Amino acid sequence: MRDLSGAKHPATKAVWAGEERYLVEGATQVPIVQSIPFGYEDLDEWTRVALGEREGHIYSRNTNPTTRAFEEKVRALEGAEASTSFATGMAAVSNTLLEFLQPGSRVVSVKDTYGGTNKVFLEFLPRAGVDVKLCDTTDHEAVAGEIARGCDLLYLETPTNPTLKLVDIKRLAEVGHGAGAIVVVDGTFATPINQSPLSLGADLVLHSASKYLGGHSDALGGILCGSDQLVKRVYHYREINGAALDPFAAYLLLRGLKTLDLRIARHNENAMRVARFLEEHPAVERVFYPGLESHPQHELAREQMRGFGGMLSFSLRGGYEAVAAFLPRLQFAHRAANLGAVETTVGPPATTSHVESSASERKEMGIPESLVRYSTGIEHPDDLISDLENALSNTHAKS
Ligand code: PLP
Repeated sequence: MRDLSGAKHPATKAVWAGEERYLVEGATQVPIVQSIPFGYEDLDEWTRVALGEREGHIYSRNTNPTTRAFEEKVRALEGAEASTSFATGMAAVSNTLLEFLQPGSRVVSVKDTYGGTNKVFLEFLPRAGVDVKLCDTTDHEAVAGEIARGCDLLYLETPTNPTLKLVDIKRLAEVGHGAGAIVVVDGTFATPINQSPLSLGADLVLHSASKYLGGHSDALGGILCGSDQLVKRVYHYREINGAALDPFAAYLLLRGLKTLDLRIARHNENAMRVARFLEEHPAVERVFYPGLESHPQHELAREQMRGFGGMLSFSLRGGYEAVAAFLPRLQFAHRAANLGAVETTVGPPATTSHVESSASERKEMGIPESLVRYSTGIEHPDDLISDLENALSNTHAKS
């Protein structure tokens, strides 16, 4: 086996980590192991694998070599002890919450979580007898106060979707642990390249791998990383619940991950340039990007993030009408409900992140109807800026 202990940097880990064990007959790429069961001639060996006393696979709803390679690569990038994968990011979110919360448990979170996660908090958990408290995302005093009233699980998302608010992982993880809570962070927007929640004190970090980790808008997936003990519990819930990652999707995600470090460097650079351009444009009311000095939590972003990410949002003067006029004019952007891909992708929260929420719920969450969510791709920033300039100047003239 190759000694990969010299892989100190994420760029090297993204390329090499997790694969060695699964390469067969000299292949340099992990195969798609499209097999549901794994057979054993020796009953003793089969039994030992089934009991977890020996490494190996039994049935692909539980583990599979291609999905294991994907799990291992993200585990290395997060610097975690263990990891487990899921069919989607939402499966990672809901399986984690449902494993740790029972009737009578109390979960504290923030109002600005991803729309699907917000639905789990507002619909499914209360139905299961869980007490859910959602606080104003940037009001850390309020979050700390709610934790002090009792908290079994503290669930954070940072930066948030779509208004790019930040939560202070280190500070709130400390408060959460003081109350005996398990601290979970959704790090989808930041990726392991820009942020390391575990080193800031979180117990578990999860991602929608459908976004930046895969990076090509062609494979759904989810991943959870943390201590062996906690990840094992969620793995057990997922293997029975059945939301397993498909080997073909795992293969695409593995392939995408190899360029993660390169892609994120470009996403970071492009979003910064686009945000600065938009901030100066008269048709734009406000830009939400943690890399801007005008972002109310810019200092926190500098402390807990290594890069500010590829996601930004902005509100247009002229409300939803201006948004509707502006969007079709963009040439280098898919108008679609995804983010984190090599192509720029754009849309209003009402049809993207918060499609599951009503207009009044969006208002309650502080998401204006004049908002555009812009997932900066890896195109050349000059082309993106002139595309935005053209689309905005026409919009401005019309509105
Ligand atoms: N978490 C965040 C921050 C997201 O943006 C999303 C999806 O947009 C999810 C979780 C859910 O991921 P998936 O679509 O892979 O289920």
